[in-house]
Amino acid sequence: MSAPPASDRPVRTRIAPSPTGMMHIGTARTALFNWLYARHRGGNFLLRIEDTDRERSTEANVQVIFEGLAWLGLQPDEPPVFQFARADRHREAVAELLARGQAYRDYMTAEELEAERERARAEGRVVRSPWRDADPATWPDRPYAVRLKSPLDGETIVRDAVKGEVKFQNASLDDLILLRSDGNPTYNLAVVVDDHDMAITHVIRGDDHLNNAARQTVIYEALGWEVPVWAHLPLIHGPDGAKLSKRHGAQAVSEFDDMGYLPETMRNYLAKLGWGHGDDEIFSDEQAIAWFDIIDVVSAPARLDWAKLNHLNNHYIRLAEPARLAELVMKILKSRDVRLRQGDEALVLRTIPFVRDGAKTTLELADAVIFVLKSRPMDIPDKVRAQLDGEMLGRIGRLRAALAAVADWSFDPLAAALRAFAEAEGVGMGKFGPQLRAILAGASPAPDLAGTMTALGRDESLSRIDDALSLPA
Ligand code: GLU
Repeated sequence: MSAPPASDRPVRTRIAPSPTGMMHIGTARTALFNWLYARHRGGNFLLRIEDTDRERSTEANVQVIFEGLAWLGLQPDEPPVFQFARADRHREAVAELLARGQAYRDYMTAEELEAERERARAEGRVVRSPWRDADPATWPDRPYAVRLKSPLDGETIVRDAVKGEVKFQNASLDDLILLRSDGNPTYNLAVVVDDHDMAITHVIRGDDHLNNAARQTVIYEALGWEVPVWAHLPLIHGPDGAKLSKRHGAQAVSEFDDMGYLPETMRNYLAKLGWGHGDDEIFSDEQAIAWFDIIDVVSAPARLDWAKLNHLNNHYIRLAEPARLAELVMKILKSRDVRLRQGDEALVLRTIPFVRDGAKTTLELADAVIFVLKSRPMDIPDKVRAQLDGEMLGRIGRLRAALAAVADWSFDPLAAALRAFAEAEGVGMGKFGPQLRAILAGASPAPDLAGTMTALGRDESLSRIDDALSLPA
């Protein structure tokens, strides 16, 4: 399809979440696409908090959004706009529509509206107010709602960068309420006024808002404002193709954090949900920014694929700075109430290079470093304990001597010493490796032996071996 209509205004996109207590992964993906597109076009990415539901819009719920965006690395370029605080401005726009004859006062009472609804349903049409063309002289003295004077026939076309041209028959759109009789602005009106005032050029959001785009287009036109470029994104589905829900495991951004996924993984992964660059699975932010365009978003729903997500996360864990990973791992261990001592972070840091290749999440990384933090003596599994007879302990004693002679206690010399020892004993590594591993790490998982010993350090490694040597054969 062709590119979206060009506008010479500088590109400005926004994410407009409602603070409901969690930040949905779909909202994160929407934020990412807005951020990528703004960056791609050298524009700005903005945040609007749609906090008109006063019960749910608590300080804490707003914080969840700030934290979610910060964690994802998608910082808005300007301070957030709060929708509720702009109600006066919304009312001002309604006054303008009234003055232009593009809106009207609707004095229908609740009962009259209900009766009209019934009639409309029976006649298979939308609700129409008798006040649409009423003479002001007939206006009663009672509260009124304000409705948009929508076109009665013809069609409203939403030119969508993802969906193409979507046509709505005007006869099927009722006259939208702009202001309720209690003076509160309605959602569609507020969105249009805010997007206009924020000079938003591209509205990129979930396709559950496609119908709203038709409504909003009519409001833009009534106000004589430039309609933004629409881009409605397909929803994210679970691996089974059903709409993403609790049973698929996770929905909230914070849950992905808690499950040990890195934000750069999420950016790369979410970018692939509905958009892509050929077969590229792994790309940097810079590449995504250079390549991203909304016209390349596909309109079919995207499916969450845990195996792919894990694969990507493993990639980014292998790329990450060890000090950052150590900090994350310490946080996880603290949350698990692991008793930590001074110096443990340094031990974790030293261990990370030996364990991270196998880790799909930072939780797995935390599991993988536990062996280094254990206090002696190790808890040797019964099966291995039974193998530690006189002959085996004799061999372990000789091995200890060989290891103690290693001058440079680091990976390569240790690996060489182990090989040389096996050769000198005339046995394969399998004849003492599993036992040594249990002696060094107990029942905890541990990397290969040279890595395990490098991570533990000389004194701790030899002490753990000494503990085993002092066991009764
Ligand atoms: N507040 C809406 C939502 O959270 C977004 C509306 C929009 O992006 O226009 O779904």
